Amino acid sequence: LAKESGIGFQSYELGMAKSLSRKLLLEQYLHKAIEKNELYLVYQPIVDVYGKRVIGVEALLRWQHPILGAITPGEFIEIAEESDLIIKLSNWVLETASRQRKIWADMNLPPFYVSINVPARQINLKSFLEGIKETLARHQLPANLLKIEITERTAMTNIQKTLTTIKELQDIGVDIILDDFGVGYSSISYLVQYPFNTIKIDKSFIEGLDNKNQRSVCRTLVAMGRNLGMNVVAEGVEELEQYQFLCSIGCHNMQGYYFSRPTSVELVETFFTSDQKG
Ligand code: C2E
Ligand code: CA
Ligand code: CA
Ligand code: CA
Repeated sequence: LAKESGIGFQSYELGMAKSLSRKLLLEQYLHKAIEKNELYLVYQPIVDVYGKRVIGVEALLRWQHPILGAITPGEFIEIAEESDLIIKLSNWVLETASRQRKIWADMNLPPFYVSINVPARQINLKSFLEGIKETLARHQLPANLLKIEITERTAMTNIQKTLTTIKELQDIGVDIILDDFGVGYSSISYLVQYPFNTIKIDKSFIEGLDNKNQRSVCRTLVAMGRNLGMNVVAEGVEELEQYQFLCSIGCHNMQGYYFSRPTSVELVETFFTSDQKG
């Protein structure tokens, strides 16, 4: 009945129009977001549960718009990736995270790394490698304090070029992490083709660990990474049971709400200057 009356169709159209105009609006605003100081980074710890220490923090982008409020990266990163806007954003993240890490080094905080998220198609741009080198040099930041998480919304094309880029980054001391491993395009064949330093098992696998089959898959993914000589990080660890299971299969690098939400610069500093002292 709804179909015949046309109501379903109308509301579908209306919905489309609404989401299209929001998208266009966000894209317009996003172009100005850097200049208007609306972007900032939060940092989420990655812990080594055996060594009981924070080995790194992932820089995650946040956008607070004065009228629209907080817009999630899930929404605006996708929009940015559809244009060259993502390049500008990634460069801002690289610069901001590197500057921050240099400040932490000058404060004598321990040598935990900062990882930044970069879409696969961007790492192959000529300007990208140069930008990394230039940024590290300008901040006099040791390369091992910066890591790149390759995020995947589209398939990695141009295998030869990507391989060269990854090796060039590794040659200057910047480790490469394959993000969201096991889902989408971030697949097993990549492990054969590319020498990642680390793989991050996607949080959807961790979420499903109450299921026996999912546990088997997770165990296999961890073993696969290790057998290839890669570090394995589990992301999205929220519960004690997940933490315990991951320990039991020898995956001791973890990230998730169980340990900490993404936090402000101030909280990272408080953590390292109080809790971990000595
Ligand atoms: P991601 O790279 O997989 O980042 C992990 C996401 O999971 C983050 O969401 C983080 O807040 C969330 N998370 C962390 N621990 C838990 C947990 O225990 N449970 C659950 N349910 N979630 C957890 P966030 O910050 O909303 O970012 C979403 C995605 O947006 C990121 O996924 C990444 O793909 C993208 N993104 C964020 N910042 C950047 C950036 O600077 N550049 C690019 N290119 N992408 C970014
Ligand atoms: Ca990531
Ligand atoms: Ca991820
Ligand atoms: Ca993700």
